[in-house]
Amino acid sequence: GRNTYAIFGSHMDELLQKRRRLEDDLREAVASGIQIQTFYQPVFSLDDGKVASFEALARWMHPRQGFISPEIFIPLAEEMGLIHEVGTLVLRDVCKLLFELPAIRVAINVSVLELSSPGYALRVIGTLAASHIDPNRLEIELTESLPVDKDGHFINNVASLRAAGVSFAIDDFGTGYASFSRVQTIDADRIKIDKSFVDDMDKADNKAIVMAIISMARAKGLKITAEGVETEAQRAALQKLGCDDLQGFLLSRPLSEAAVHLLVKGPERR
Ligand code: C2E
Ligand code: CA
Ligand code: CA
Ligand code: CA
Repeated sequence: GRNTYAIFGSHMDELLQKRRRLEDDLREAVASGIQIQTFYQPVFSLDDGKVASFEALARWMHPRQGFISPEIFIPLAEEMGLIHEVGTLVLRDVCKLLFELPAIRVAINVSVLELSSPGYALRVIGTLAASHIDPNRLEIELTESLPVDKDGHFINNVASLRAAGVSFAIDDFGTGYASFSRVQTIDADRIKIDKSFVDDMDKADNKAIVMAIISMARAKGLKITAEGVETEAQRAALQKLGCDDLQGFLLSRPLSEAAVHLLVKGPERR
């Protein structure tokens, strides 16, 4: 009835206003740069248990609301056309870290929108060159959220980056558009098995899916990372099934830049 509509209407108004404020705040955060920070989650090799690489993860430290999850602000940045600026901020942090720690490799998350924009590959290659960083030390994780246009800038960007030495991983493998057809489209080097399959690996169904993914990936010569590993039982099962690398809270949470320095170099002597 009429009253219900009025209540619904004012609630919508409130939501819209909240959203507009968040959009304004994000525009400001991206422009100033300092509120957007980069954390790094170590990825461990199952062979020797050592850190194989780090995944760069964007963080938004909002001045009044505190930490806002990338699950919220990355999709917002994509809708607002700000994802390119966020990607630039993260890449700048990553290049600084790669320069300071010459032994490490880092993976960045890149949205289909960025990879579909003209000149993206050249910008990344230029940024790496300006910091004298070997492109082999950078991996791009392609997130699953959008379909790709196989003839446009996307394919050209991927080809240029691959030619320069940047490697590619399919993120959240097994969900959305992240499938073997996408592996073929970008000639990926690696798949990252989505956390949803790693959860409940003790259930026969999920274990069968993970086994099938791993054997197909092996047959295609792909490297395999399992993400979201939280329990010792999952770690043991994934090791048995033949994953290459593991990532998850069991092994390490995402770390600040300072913590990465400590982990890689050990405590500095004075
Ligand atoms: P993702 O690429 O799948 O990243 C893994 C997410 O899982 C991260 O969340 C990480 O903190 C979390 N995680 C890792 N291990 C565990 C675990 O054992 N248990 C649980 N419950 N979670 C775990 P985060 O940092 O909140 O990032 C969320 C998503 O936001 C990322 O998912 C990625 O798709 C996106 N994202 C983050 N940074 C960037 C960025 O710089 N650019 C773009 N385009 N997307 C980004
Ligand atoms: Ca990722
Ligand atoms: Ca993922
Ligand atoms: Ca994800």
